[in-house]
Amino acid sequence: MDSIVDIAGRVTRGEASAREIATDAVRRMKAGAELGAFISVLEDELLAEATAVDERRARGEALGPLAGVPVAVKDAICTRGVRTTAGSRALEGWVAPYDAHVVSRLRAAGAVVCGKTNMDEFAMGSSNENSAFFPAKNPHDPTRAPGGSSGGSAVAVAAEMAPASLGSDTGGSIRQPAALTGIVGVKPSYGRVSRFGLVAFASSLDQIGPFAGDVRGAARVLGVIAGHDPRDMTCRALEAVDFEAACGRDVSGLRLGVPEEYFAEGLDAEVETRVREAIAALEARGCKVAPVHLPHTKHAVATYYVIATAEASSNLSRYDGVRYGLRVEPQGGLAAMYGATRDAAFGKEVKRRILLGTYVLSAGHYDAYYAKAQRVRTLIARDFDAAFAEVDAIVCPTSPTPAFPLGERTRDPLSMYLSDVYTLPASLAGVPAVSVPCAPTAAGLPVGLQIVTRRDDEATALALAAAWEADRGPLPRARGAVT
Ligand code: GLN
Repeated sequence: MDSIVDIAGRVTRGEASAREIATDAVRRMKAGAELGAFISVLEDELLAEATAVDERRARGEALGPLAGVPVAVKDAICTRGVRTTAGSRALEGWVAPYDAHVVSRLRAAGAVVCGKTNMDEFAMGSSNENSAFFPAKNPHDPTRAPGGSSGGSAVAVAAEMAPASLGSDTGGSIRQPAALTGIVGVKPSYGRVSRFGLVAFASSLDQIGPFAGDVRGAARVLGVIAGHDPRDMTCRALEAVDFEAACGRDVSGLRLGVPEEYFAEGLDAEVETRVREAIAALEARGCKVAPVHLPHTKHAVATYYVIATAEASSNLSRYDGVRYGLRVEPQGGLAAMYGATRDAAFGKEVKRRILLGTYVLSAGHYDAYYAKAQRVRTLIARDFDAAFAEVDAIVCPTSPTPAFPLGERTRDPLSMYLSDVYTLPASLAGVPAVSVPCAPTAAGLPVGLQIVTRRDDEATALALAAAWEADRGPLPRARGAVT
């Protein structure tokens, strides 16, 4: 399907109407329904919004950089007047009373929200199989997972149902599904994008970011959603960056670090070959490639699962059946209502994490687990500081394996947690990272190159991703893509 930049250009020039583009998006979302990418297809809302864009154009108003572009939004991001479930029974019937900051920004830029995408419950997972409703399927092979937790957002773009989507990344949930479905995904620096209106999982890690079929499109969406918002106290007042301009930048002379810890046991041989090819192409463009060390990488999974579960146990205490969402009222008063509500509201993985998080925060265990994890988090962040004193970007695989079969990792939470070994460190350090497709494996499964840069230097990561994308050339379409 047409790219973000093409669609916006055609609508701005009057060569296509937003309504026409929206009608086609509705057809595509329906044709791809089998893939389970959407929890809600917003047909009526989409057509009404698109008509409003066309009316603005007819009045001679400026439309913005995403004029008429349908954007699929992860169902953890609030959209006024429509259901926002976060993939959970807890919020199954909950209608958001306001737009998340990023959604307001999208609308102001002329974009139209086409649907709310499937996800692991409360963004906890790496395969989309923890959705309370149904799994999403990988359009390159529907017997395989698309990755998670923003699996639906990745599938929507990879299967060409929408040109762009938003996801959220706490420990890899944009980058990993982007890699497994063969598209571009960007996790911004912590604090670059407002979290106002994002259903919280782990607040010190959560960031919203874009998925797109190409680097330039992702850069454009990032430019639209980024920016200060006083409603999120962790959202910083950074100077605006022209991310799209970075996509054409000369990358020669940039120093790339290859972290040995990311090319170790557990890395699929074909993934390694594909990633090394991409690094070699950047070297051929004049980048200087050298090994770097991130020695605390081996502690990232343990550290993340202490900190993220601690924050989740606190954030999820609000689903008590009193304020909003599901309520189950058995006999026995308030305590019984809390218990029955939370039992019915949450799936197994969410319960596991609440228990773990409550445990690591409890008196007697706090120092041994939570406080220690915070110290190790600092060591992981310092690894990146030390590496970035020597190099401008770190290049590595996004995921240790290509897309895995549905069901393969659901019985063993630890094997699922290991899907994110290469994405968790950047989240803990708060630095930005882009996943851009390499060439696929012999079996036709996508592979992602991850480019991690200094805090607030998304531009360099995008420049490198765009350079590699140009060398790589077009990718084969997903077998399950809608035509
Ligand atoms: N897979 C990781 C988890 O389950 C990361 C999820 C995310 O980034 N939201 O916590």
